[in-house]
Amino acid sequence: MSEATSDKEKSPIVSATERYTVGNYARIPMAFVSGCGRRLYDDAGRAYLDMFSGLAVSSLGHGHAGLANAIAAQAGKLIHTSNVFSNEPSARLAREMVERTFADRVFFCNSGTEANEAAIKMARRHGGERYEIVTVSGSFHGRTLGSLAATGQPSLREGFGPMPEGFIHVERCNVEAIEAAVGPKTAAVLVEPVIGEGGIIVPPEGYLEKLREICDRGGSLLIFDEVQCGWGRSGQLYAYMEFGVTPDVLCSAKGLAGGMPIGAVLATDSAAAELVPGTHGTTFGANPVACAAALAVLEAFDTEGVLENCRRAGQHLAAGLAALAQRREDIVEARGVGLMRGMELTRPGRPVVDAALSMGLVMNATAGNVLRFLPPLTITTEEIDEGLAILERALEQTATEEGG
Ligand code: PLP
Repeated sequence: MSEATSDKEKSPIVSATERYTVGNYARIPMAFVSGCGRRLYDDAGRAYLDMFSGLAVSSLGHGHAGLANAIAAQAGKLIHTSNVFSNEPSARLAREMVERTFADRVFFCNSGTEANEAAIKMARRHGGERYEIVTVSGSFHGRTLGSLAATGQPSLREGFGPMPEGFIHVERCNVEAIEAAVGPKTAAVLVEPVIGEGGIIVPPEGYLEKLREICDRGGSLLIFDEVQCGWGRSGQLYAYMEFGVTPDVLCSAKGLAGGMPIGAVLATDSAAAELVPGTHGTTFGANPVACAAALAVLEAFDTEGVLENCRRAGQHLAAGLAALAQRREDIVEARGVGLMRGMELTRPGRPVVDAALSMGLVMNATAGNVLRFLPPLTITTEEIDEGLAILERALEQTATEEGG
């Protein structure tokens, strides 16, 4: 097929995206134009079951009336005023976050990487002479330079050096290694309680408790990056509640506003104390529409049993994946919490993702060979069964193809 012909057959949305945007994403050449519940519809009218949530973002699924109405109402009332002033939705959201968590204060920004940048700056100001941030291998904290320096994946830093100094990477889930790296220069230990991009790694028993002890003993802050595992995805509002270990600082983003861009840093009074006027800020942070959307997500958590559903559906998904793992030799193991689940294969995940997509299921693969399931927190057990059936067919088809 000539390039011209294939271009003609391509969706015009995909063609324009490829032609006019920077080529930094290895996008799947398709475009969704609408969604309802856990269904997405592409520009050819095909329906797909969403077990991806736009990378753990669309936590209430698509077309949620309460969320859409809250966004529309706030947009009609007031969209932006800047942090030169206070605004009602962000004040209310901050109060809700403080009253429901360990935190005394919240800083709002626009994304996960910005939340981590703010947390790093907070830790360095708090630490005074202490400036080192200890993080772990396989972690992902974002693409801006500070968060990238913190990220425990050297390949992502290639060509972007020099990196900001003071980031120490040690082996993940290795308490001794972390203990050895923490010293008088350590401002903070920064970890994802459940590692996401690195392959859905659940913390070993006692691991987070040990990190808490190490930080307390050495006078460093413990920062949890809950950008992916937080705000309901674990089945609790934040994953630290699931594990019973409280951080000093917590970074949140992704599903916080159900799809509107937002990030937040939750912190104790002590950790936040040095971020005084002039030290940090962002024009769009605390945006009224994004904060109204986050409040609508919280309202759905409170009134629609979303977290209870996440726990129930998460168990159902875990059981289905475990049963599949029993039946197939190309599955190493299934693991995860709530509706953040991974299935490690003995082979690359991407062909399975592509096959599933062609059969009407959206999911993704991370860390090369881990299939990742991040469905909306509202997914039903029937929909999970439908997804599992497609997954099994996709595994079967790609195993046969690979076997020749
Ligand atoms: N931290 C974690 C744990 C993440 O999973 C991600 C994104 O995948 C980020 C930070 C970066 O978030 P964002 O892409 O919103 O900057």
